[in-house]
Amino acid sequence: MSPPSLIDAHPNLAGAAPVALSYELFPPRSPAAAESLWTTIGELEATDPDYVSVTYGSSGSNHGTAIELINRLVQETTLRPLAHLTCVGNSPQELAEIIGELLDVGVRGILALRGDQPKDGGAPPEGSLRYAQDLIELIRRVEQRRSALLCAGKVAVGVAAYPTRHPESPSEAHDVEVLMAKQRSGADFAITQVFFHTEQYADLLTRARRAGVTIPIIPGVMPLTSLRRLARLAELTGVEPQPELIERLAAADTDAERIRIGVSATVDLANAALDAGAPGLHLYTFNEHAAALDVLDKLALPRPRTGRHSGNRNSGARIDASRHAATGQLAS
Ligand code: FAD
Repeated sequence: MSPPSLIDAHPNLAGAAPVALSYELFPPRSPAAAESLWTTIGELEATDPDYVSVTYGSSGSNHGTAIELINRLVQETTLRPLAHLTCVGNSPQELAEIIGELLDVGVRGILALRGDQPKDGGAPPEGSLRYAQDLIELIRRVEQRRSALLCAGKVAVGVAAYPTRHPESPSEAHDVEVLMAKQRSGADFAITQVFFHTEQYADLLTRARRAGVTIPIIPGVMPLTSLRRLARLAELTGVEPQPELIERLAAADTDAERIRIGVSATVDLANAALDAGAPGLHLYTFNEHAAALDVLDKLALPRPRTGRHSGNRNSGARIDASRHAATGQLAS
């Protein structure tokens, strides 16, 4: 019999692992949007997230503003950026340059995505990468060329995962095969598409683990306070919200009530995912902090105490409607 492992007995490794916290932001489209985004960034920074992800337009449509936002996050805040990068419509050469540019500004986490196909239904330009899997392999090749520059931190590569079937995929089983292929190509973790039913994250986790996917799968959760946004999201992602939630939001008499209903539904989703073993929580913020902070307030996330900020938002269940009013983010 082999002796007991010292690592297994190590007191710091006993008990539940801390839950990762992250937010999604998108590059602002106007100076006014930038101003409001920086207020949001300040509020989110006070919650000590592990990283904030920055979206990237398909075919690099917002390349300049994405790099600018990432650069400012690195220079002016304590936040660690996770840069989304899409590959559809770009050649491997162009993408290798962008990956180099991201590494040069200090990025050490990239979410490798295909991006949405051109809206006109046309084929992507000749020579552009086809799948997110190809982009992961390219990132790993660029990383390898720079390995001596990355001695103080390798690149973490994330990918998208789908609790409900990707609109172009033949089945949920195929989606899990694709996730497995992305893991084999070098993905370190996955973040899920939005989902609206409490059991969907647990189901994905079960299917993925059964297929051999071992990387962390982090649930992406969107505060469900806006009917307009839910409808737009369903259009963009093909993910249908629960009809009961839509009915309850539509029947609410006041914005405050709608926020309460939406936040409570989001907290239920997040808690179901955490109960199923989610290693983190990724909040889709739409560049607004109020609903995200309301959700966070109602969750008792086991978070490490980094002491980077004095504020600790996980202090109890309180929905502050004035937060929404002050920032003009009332549900629509
Ligand atoms: P892939 O994994 O390449 O999959 C695309 C399709 O091809 C799927 O139907 C899949 O089943 C199929 N497929 C993949 N590999 C293979 C293979 N080897 N053989 C056969 N079929 C295959 N979009 C943006 O434009 N910008 C963003 O910043 C952005 N951020 C996102 C963040 C998250 C967390 C998520 C979940 C999505 C995000 N998206 C973003 C949307 C994403 O670009 C779309 O969902 C896109 O349609 C698919 O991207 P993917 O990376 O999953 O592609």
